[in-house]
Amino acid sequence: MLGGCTTMQDYSTADRPETAADTAAENGPPAIPQGTGYFAQPSDLPLHAPDFSKIKDSDYAPAFEQAMKIHSAEVQAIIDNPAQPTFENTIVALEKSGRMLGRVATVFYALTGANTNDTLQAVDAEISPKLSAHSDGITLNPQLFARVKAVYDARASLGLDAEDSKLLEETYKGMVHAGAMLTPEQKAKVKEINSELSTITTEFSQKLISATKAAALVVDDKSKLAGLSDAEIAAAAKTAEERGMPGKYVIALQNTTRQPSLGALTDRAVREELFNNSWTRAEKNDENDTREAVARIVELRAQKAALFGEPDWASYVMWDRMAKNPKTALDFMEQMVPALAARQRADAAMLDKEIKASGKNFAVKPWDWEMYADKVKAKKFAFNEDEVKQYFEVHRVLEDGVFYAANKLYGLTFKKRTDLPVYNPDVSTYDVFDADGSQLGIFYFDPFQRDNKRGGAWMSNFVDQSHLFGDKPVIYNVLNIPKAPDGEPQLVSFDNVETMFHEFGHALHGFFANGKYASLSGTAVARDFVEYPSQTNEMWASYPEVLAHYAKNWKTGAPIPQALIDKIIAAKKFNQGYDFGEVVEAALLDMKWHALTPEQAAAIKAPADVDAFEDKSLKQLGLETDLVPPRYRSSYFSHIFSGPTGYSAGYYSYLWTEMLDRDSQKWFLDHGGLTRANGQHYRDTILSRGAAEDYFKMYKDFTGHEPSVEPMLEAHGLVPDKK
Ligand SMILES: [Zn+2]
Repeated sequence: MLGGCTTMQDYSTADRPETAADTAAENGPPAIPQGTGYFAQPSDLPLHAPDFSKIKDSDYAPAFEQAMKIHSAEVQAIIDNPAQPTFENTIVALEKSGRMLGRVATVFYALTGANTNDTLQAVDAEISPKLSAHSDGITLNPQLFARVKAVYDARASLGLDAEDSKLLEETYKGMVHAGAMLTPEQKAKVKEINSELSTITTEFSQKLISATKAAALVVDDKSKLAGLSDAEIAAAAKTAEERGMPGKYVIALQNTTRQPSLGALTDRAVREELFNNSWTRAEKNDENDTREAVARIVELRAQKAALFGEPDWASYVMWDRMAKNPKTALDFMEQMVPALAARQRADAAMLDKEIKASGKNFAVKPWDWEMYADKVKAKKFAFNEDEVKQYFEVHRVLEDGVFYAANKLYGLTFKKRTDLPVYNPDVSTYDVFDADGSQLGIFYFDPFQRDNKRGGAWMSNFVDQSHLFGDKPVIYNVLNIPKAPDGEPQLVSFDNVETMFHEFGHALHGFFANGKYASLSGTAVARDFVEYPSQTNEMWASYPEVLAHYAKNWKTGAPIPQALIDKIIAAKKFNQGYDFGEVVEAALLDMKWHALTPEQAAAIKAPADVDAFEDKSLKQLGLETDLVPPRYRSSYFSHIFSGPTGYSAGYYSYLWTEMLDRDSQKWFLDHGGLTRANGQHYRDTILSRGAAEDYFKMYKDFTGHEPSVEPMLEAHGLVPDKK
C-alpha cells in the first residue's frame, strides 16, 4: 500500500529513552526531582505495557511538566560531572536520561493519534511548544555540546564498537543539525522558529481534523446513495445518527483526495459533490482553513534552513537520509514522469471510450475515474471488490494471514490476551513468541475508523527494544478500516488487507530489534528506509500459500478460487496511471514546497497564493494532474505539515523504499519464497539491525547487490526513457 502509512518516530530528544536518577556525579550530585503519579515508574504490567485502567486524561499535563524537570536535572548532572567527558558519562548517560518523559510521551501521542478528545487536544496544544523548547534547551545547550564534542573529537582513540560509534556520531551530528555550532543570535532565532513551527503545525492538524469531519458528504435522500451496498447505506445512516442528524446519511471523508465511495456512487452529481468536499475540505475561508498555516510553515522552514547555510528546507532535512540530498530524490522521481504521463493520457482515453460505450456523453473527470476504471477492470478481470471482500474477514486476515506468514518466515507464534487494559474496546492484544518459544513482545491491534482517530494507518511502540534497559518491544498497529454495523461480518478490501500486512511489516522491524540503544533500534531508522521492510511484508498478502491459508469465504469457509487470485494479482497492475501517479505527484509537490528559498516562500501568504503555487507546481511536472489529482492536496497533506518536521521533503521515501522493496521481493522469489531460511536471512541482515549500520551496506548484505530500480518500474508497467 503506497503512501498510506507513517511510523511515529518524530519526537527526537523528547522521547529519547531514559532512566532513573543514576546519572549524578559522586560528589555533591544535583538533586534530581522524584516524579509522582502513574508515569513516575515503569508500568508493572508485562513488558511494561501501559496500564490504561490507571491512566486518566488529567494525568498527562502534570506528568509532562514533572518529566521535563526531571529530564533537565538529569542533563544538568551530566554537564556538572567533574570527571572528564567519556562515552559512558556523557553519551550513554544522555541516552539514559528522560525515561519518564519517554513514558508519558509515547502513551500520550498514541492516544492523540488514535483516540483523542477535547482534553487531550487541549493538552497537546499547550504542551507541544513546551516540549519543543525543552528539546531545544538540551540539544542547543553549549556546555552539553562541549562535552559531546570532546568525546566525538577523541572518537578514534576510544575503541568503540560499531553500535557505540553510531550512537556517538548520531548524538553529535544531531546536535550540530539542531544548531549547536550556531552563534547565540542564530540559536535564539532557531528556538523562536521551532516554537512557532510547533504551535502552527499543531494548529494545522487540529484544523484539519475538524475540517475533514465537517466536510463529510451529507445527503437526506437515500436514492442519492444509489450504487452503495445496503450495509454501506446503513453505516451512513448510523454515522448521521451519531452526529445528531437522524434520518440523514453521512459519508465521512478519508484523508486522501480520492474517496472509496467514488467508485460506487452512480449519481454523477453526488460523486462530484463528494470529490469537491474532499478537495476543498480545508479551503473554505473559515476557521478551519489551513492554507495560511501552510504558507507560514513553509516560510519558517525555509528561514530555518537558511540559518544553517542551506539553500532550502529539503537540503537541510535530508542530511541523515539514505538518499542524502534532494537532487538524488528528484532525479529518481523525474525519470519516471514521461512514461507515467503517457500512461495517464492513455488510461484517460480508455476511460472516455468506456464512458461513451455506456451511453454517456462527458469526458472523464477525477470523480468519474474510479467508477469507470472499475468498470473496465471488471470487464478485463471479471470480478468486483465486493465479491473479493467476502474472503477477507479482518480477524481471520490477521491471525490466519499476517501471523501465518510471520510464522512461516520467522517461526513466530501469537497468543491472544484478554487481560491487558486497552484504550478502546475495539483494540485487541497478543503475546508474540519467538521461534524458540521465548517472548519477543506484545502486539496491539486497533483496526477501525473513528472520528477521534486521525486518518491513515501507522505503527509505533509503547515500549522500545533496548538491551541497555533490558526492554522488550510493545508495539501497536492502527488502521482506519470502516467499521461494519453491529452483527455484520467485518469484511475488508484487498487494499486494507495489504495495509494490514504493511503495518505488521513495521511491527516485525520493531519486534526483531536487537540493539543496545533504543534510539538506534527497530524502526528508529532513516525516513527513506523505514517504509522498506513494511512494503516488503506486503508481498505475502498475495503469495499463493499465504492467501490459500487465510482468504476464506466468511459464510461458507470455502477457500478463495484460484481464478480469483489470478485476477487479483493481474488487476494489481491495472490503473497505474492513477494509483502510482497520485503518489508520485504528492511526492513531487512535497519536494517543490520544500525547495523554496526564504524569499520565494515569503511571497506566498494568502490562501489564493497557496493554491496558485500548488497549481503551478503540479502543471510544471508534466503529469496530467487535472485528471489525476495528487493523493494529498497541500491544505490536507498532513504527512508533511503535521509536526515541526513531519514527513516534509520525505514523501518520496515511499517511492524510494518501494524501489528497495520490489528489488527485495525479487530476491525472495528467486530464492524459494516463503521459507524459514529466507526469513532468517532477512531478519539477520535487515530487520534486526535498526540504524546501527550504513543502509546501503545492510541492503547489500541482504541482496548481494546495490538497489536496482528496474523491478519497480516493471511492476508499474513503466520503462525508463534511457538505459
Ligand atoms: Zn508504513
